Amino acid sequence: MKEDENFWDYTAPTDCSWYWKRLNKLKLDMRRWYNADRYNLTPSGKQSIAKGYYDMIGAGQAMETSTLTWSKILQPKHRFILWLAAQRKLLTRGRLESMGIECANTECELCDMHAHEDSNHLFKDCTWAVGMCQAMNDWTKLQLPKTNIVDVLKLIKQKHCPRMKKEIVAAVLGAMIYHGMKHQTTPLFVEHWTLEMLFQVKITLGKIFSIVNEGWNWELVCDIAINYRQSITSKLVLWECAEQYSFILNTNGSCSPSLSKAGAGGIVRKINGDLIMASAKPLQFLTNKSSEIQAALHGLKWCHQKNLSDFLIQLNSLFVAQMIQGKSKVPWTYQKLIEENKKIVTQRNVKVIRCYREANMVADALSKFFNNLAQEKFYYQEGDLPAEALGPLRMDKMGIPSFRIRPAKHTGRAVEKEKQQKLKGKSEDKGAENEQSNNHNEGKD
Ligand SMILES: [Zn+2]
Repeated sequence: MKEDENFWDYTAPTDCSWYWKRLNKLKLDMRRWYNADRYNLTPSGKQSIAKGYYDMIGAGQAMETSTLTWSKILQPKHRFILWLAAQRKLLTRGRLESMGIECANTECELCDMHAHEDSNHLFKDCTWAVGMCQAMNDWTKLQLPKTNIVDVLKLIKQKHCPRMKKEIVAAVLGAMIYHGMKHQTTPLFVEHWTLEMLFQVKITLGKIFSIVNEGWNWELVCDIAINYRQSITSKLVLWECAEQYSFILNTNGSCSPSLSKAGAGGIVRKINGDLIMASAKPLQFLTNKSSEIQAALHGLKWCHQKNLSDFLIQLNSLFVAQMIQGKSKVPWTYQKLIEENKKIVTQRNVKVIRCYREANMVADALSKFFNNLAQEKFYYQEGDLPAEALGPLRMDKMGIPSFRIRPAKHTGRAVEKEKQQKLKGKSEDKGAENEQSNNHNEGKD
């Protein structure tokens, strides 16, 4: 294409490559998106790949059961195979044959019926399907018919029960189809499939609800999934220092993958919270751990140069703290830096402690200051500190605690334990009542 030629009027020569011809053909479709050089699919005129894509595929009708097929309860591979089955596009031998691909044997290998293997047979007549449906119906106590997948999905959707329960049934169905297709080449016993299929569904549920126990029955699975509410735990965290140390060093390193930048922050304070020195330094962007180690080293070096000893260093990363303490194996990439840290720690009699991020807010704020700095900056006066660091510093000085808020992980075992304890409590109460009544009777005697 020549430089002075108009892109829209250009036609590809007949002897050019296939992809150039194809691109130019595509251009003809895209022409209607532009009106006097203005993109008219978006109101602002800004080009949008999504809008172009939807315009190309045209207005389609959403699948009625799409919420069941693409629910988060299903494992991604199960979602895809369930969608394929609902579209009648499962790669069965019958479908391969209809596509003109030669198959030596088109009989279903999951049963001994010598039937032609296609979606109709797989989900209706095949003894494998009968066994699987039976196992599923036994576990869920729902009576789902042996018919094509679209109808089964529609039936599930029409049931009068909570949405989560319907999604779990669809998940079991997806797992069933997946394992059916997976074991086509290595037929195993139906019992094995059933266990495997149910186990896979429970694993997915476990990932979502932080719960997994292969022994759960259908009621318990539904009960937990429907009533699941994430509980929150909070812990009071305070910046403080034991009295045997004369001062305390807090360090932190952080990195931003989106900006490809990293920084180190550190602060040395007296135990009453008075500032001795604070620093913020941009680092080479590597990993979070590397930034943490460099931040610790930077703070330790400053203290070493000023001949300070017998102090405390607090950092966020447990792994880095353990590496410096010699309690954890050091990866070779960090070995040199950790050795330097260790050297100063032993020479200056430093105690290394891991602390929560909420008790290390000043160093945390300083480490995130890399974006505003071209080189290292030291602060010796409180008033010079950036506002992001000054606030937490004053809070620490006044002894105001922070709250560490985390979602509580709960396990199915805990639920079962609770139930058992309740039952135990009831039986103990009954026992106590019996004893009391016995005593009462004895007293009467
Ligand atoms: Zn069969």
